[in-house]
Amino acid sequence: MKFRNFKMVDYVVYGRGCFNQLDEIIAPHRKSGKPMVFLLDHFFENKPLADRIPLRGNDKILFADVTYEPKTTYVDSLAGQLRNEFGTVSGIIGIGGGSTMDLAKAVSLMMNNPGSSADYQGWDLVKQPGVYKAGIPTLSGTGAEVSRTTVLTGPTKKLGMNSDFTPFNQIVLDPELTANAPANQRFYTGMDCYIHCIESLEGTYLNEFSRSYGEKALELCRNVFVKKDKWDDECDDQLMMASYAGGMSIAYSQVGVAHAVSYGLSYLLGTKHGVGNCIVMNHLGEYYPAGVKEFKYMVEKNKIDIPKGICKGLTDEQFDTMINVSLSMKPLWENALGKDWEKIMTRDKLRGLYEKL
Ligand code: NAD
Ligand code: ZN
Repeated sequence: MKFRNFKMVDYVVYGRGCFNQLDEIIAPHRKSGKPMVFLLDHFFENKPLADRIPLRGNDKILFADVTYEPKTTYVDSLAGQLRNEFGTVSGIIGIGGGSTMDLAKAVSLMMNNPGSSADYQGWDLVKQPGVYKAGIPTLSGTGAEVSRTTVLTGPTKKLGMNSDFTPFNQIVLDPELTANAPANQRFYTGMDCYIHCIESLEGTYLNEFSRSYGEKALELCRNVFVKKDKWDDECDDQLMMASYAGGMSIAYSQVGVAHAVSYGLSYLLGTKHGVGNCIVMNHLGEYYPAGVKEFKYMVEKNKIDIPKGICKGLTDEQFDTMINVSLSMKPLWENALGKDWEKIMTRDKLRGLYEKL
């Protein structure tokens, strides 16, 4: 048995309004003549948050276009643009949902590593630390703020740059930044956390480290989506910590069936991670009976729309593509179904599941 020795985020600040400390926090990381680059989710263009960014000298705000989930081509073009303009930069500060945070991590790494980000999709392929990087979530649930990966869609695969150089140097957890996110989006991203917990807690890779964080994250998700009748500040506070704890839980375990199936959807159809997980979770009663029952209750209680019929009319070839992508996620299946997972999740069985979505 080889135990994972995992690298964590260096610094964490948490609290309502802690975004106001950003200037002070990043000051020691400024290098003379080299800008701090703020990669801001395009949702915040012309919004008050854009004016609160502590710009100094030749600092730059880049708006992250997250219409599609991050692609390696987009990472390469952002890093190329910064290299052409400045040579190097003092740091990259990603402010937004999971997509923007992943972009910030990847661009930071690509400032100091040659070639394309597609060359580094996999485990421990990144050889040089990136430039200083900080992550500031404006949606809670993905756990991207604590993870050692950055999920990218490349020319041949959807896979992260998973490495010890990937975690942020700093995260700023300010629940005020998540206030007023639209209810559907907040739910989809929040459910990413809930589903991480179910998959981790029901998985065969579970250990006490994962369980401790996973149970806490699950309790917080339940407070927010099951117990509360109306969204309030406490919900933002709790969901932000649920995301953090959920991410910590996954660090030592793995996700499962919902993620393995949802990756196929996003690869073929571009379905976004949060909503894709929800679409799949609706049909996983066989694998996670209690979790799926509660999930359906939360959907109803919070009056959320989950798209249906998204695989209608797909060709055999398209189903095969999704099945191939999904079955290639071996650790996820092994975590969910055990060593003999290939006997349980046959291609036919998986095709049947995709047809229901
Ligand atoms: P997202 O970042 O894709 O954003 C979804 C939408 O919400 C976008 O339109 C965005 O502009 C908008 N938005 C962001 N903040 C908002 C706010 N406060 N108010 C209103 N709108 C806001 O959504 P997400 O669910 O946070 O992230 C999903 C991404 O995270 C996927 O790309 C997925 O692959 C990635 N992910 C990464 C990890 C990891 O460990 N690195 C883990 C899980 C998911
Ligand atoms: Zn996820």
